[in-house]
Amino acid sequence: MAIYLDHAATTPLRPEALEAMLPYLTERFGNPSSPHRFGRAARAGLDEARERLAARLNAEPRELVFTSGGTEANNLAVKGAAWVGKARGNQILTSPVEHHSVGHSLAYLEKFGFEVVALGVDRYGRVDPDEVEARLGDRTILVSIMLANNEVGTIEPIAEIARRVRTRRGVLFHVDAVAAAPHLPLDVQALDVDLLTLSAHKFEGPKGAGLLYIRRGVHILAQQQGGTQERYRRAGTEDVAAVVGMAVAYDLACEERATVSGRLRRAADRLLRTLRAEPGVEVTGHPKERLPGLVSVVVPGVDGAELVMALDLAGIAVSTGSACTTGSTEPSHVLTAMGYPADEARGALRISLGRATTEAELETAAAEIRAVIARFRAAAESEPALAQDGVLGR
Ligand SMILES: *Cc1c(COP(=O)(O)O)cnc(C)c1O
Repeated sequence: MAIYLDHAATTPLRPEALEAMLPYLTERFGNPSSPHRFGRAARAGLDEARERLAARLNAEPRELVFTSGGTEANNLAVKGAAWVGKARGNQILTSPVEHHSVGHSLAYLEKFGFEVVALGVDRYGRVDPDEVEARLGDRTILVSIMLANNEVGTIEPIAEIARRVRTRRGVLFHVDAVAAAPHLPLDVQALDVDLLTLSAHKFEGPKGAGLLYIRRGVHILAQQQGGTQERYRRAGTEDVAAVVGMAVAYDLACEERATVSGRLRRAADRLLRTLRAEPGVEVTGHPKERLPGLVSVVVPGVDGAELVMALDLAGIAVSTGSACTTGSTEPSHVLTAMGYPADEARGALRISLGRATTEAELETAAAEIRAVIARFRAAAESEPALAQDGVLGR
């Protein structure tokens, strides 16, 4: 049996969500925009899910726009806010450790004359709220910073940043809360954000479902044209089953959060201690302000992708940093921004625990991870030149 420790990449669909989804994949197949009884049955499921999610986020149902996931919600937030803000200014502030769905959307906007300012981060990946305030200018229209980082688990000081953003009128504040959602309570009023992104498959909901919270009164330009769905903000027939599954999964995640997070934190702390004791291993991300259940390290001089392959052979599923950059030999943009040189950043390993992770699994995994790291380090030391060229073991 293989051990799954890559919950930051995706989680299994929980059975309660699947069960709630099934009727909408079978007899309640109607189009939620159809006025007849088939449509109304689907609409009822969509409306109920919207109400439940809004209540959990302390938002109004009409403030939620359902999307095909976190990537689409981030694209909609960043591009939609930029195009509306263009009349007032062209500057966007962001961190260099954002998910590519934010970072690459901003790179796209740069081609159209927007100026993207990447703030600095410290060695833990944290943005300095004072720098946000210092960089806010008359032309700033949007600030986009994630709540928690998906590669190293660092939690950003979002409340502090929000306070600084609010000193300037008319600047929109977007927060990618995808990685945080399974672990941290989210209240859009307390966080004081205008736009917030969630993705269902990171909290045991289905893949292909997400949402963008858009504060009432905030206007963004739709990025997809067609029908009147989602109050003209996202055209296209909603995936009712997926949205229903997302609502059930998020409800349960919120109810179980305190107990699950406590357990994950203790388990992750034990694993962190074990790995830290391993020679040549350095823990990445903030020592305290980090997501429970996410363990991230670098093994300098060793190729993280090769560690992942070797661990897979041993039946342990982990990742280097993010699943989205698999296949690329570039070191992680997150670790690079945190000041890790390329040869250290290439040795990244992320072990992310989930609700169902057991003590026994972690013990087995810890032993295998230590053995594989020791084996790779020994090889790297005996053939340092080869290891540096990345040739070793390829
Ligand atoms: C997974 C992830 C996304 C993308 O969400 P998808 O639903 O997979 O498109 C965006 N941001 C962060 C921080 C993530 O971890």
